[in-house]
Amino acid sequence: MEHNKKINHWCALCGIGYHACDSCSKEKTITPWRSLTDTVGHYKVFMVLRDYKNKVISREKAQELLSGLDLSDKESYKDNAKSVLSDIYMINTVDKPVKLTNKQRGRKPVQVESKMENESLSEEIEKSEE
Ligand SMILES: [Zn+2]
Repeated sequence: MEHNKKINHWCALCGIGYHACDSCSKEKTITPWRSLTDTVGHYKVFMVLRDYKNKVISREKAQELLSGLDLSDKESYKDNAKSVLSDIYMINTVDKPVKLTNKQRGRKPVQVESKMENESLSEEIEKSEE
């Protein structure tokens, strides 16, 4: 039995690399959330964002669904997930149409890397010993 937990998937929501059993992912009879995200919580959020983006659900419905989900780590989401999220909550600024004149997004690509450090670094150390 090999327990080689290689990172072979990356969370569709937060971008974190994780290990998921490929043969489990092939099971199409069950929802293979494991092949999309690292946690069930992220999967639920991801589905809401995706449905909203695909116009399957309304902004109000998306807000309603998200209110029941844990968004406490939303700062770690990928940029595109964050932008959908802020789009959903844009209703708060609805009477103030924001003109994107000074679009300062404060990019910090370092953040993403430091977030992944714990997970991927240990993997790499193990690999280099081969
Ligand atoms: Zn995730």
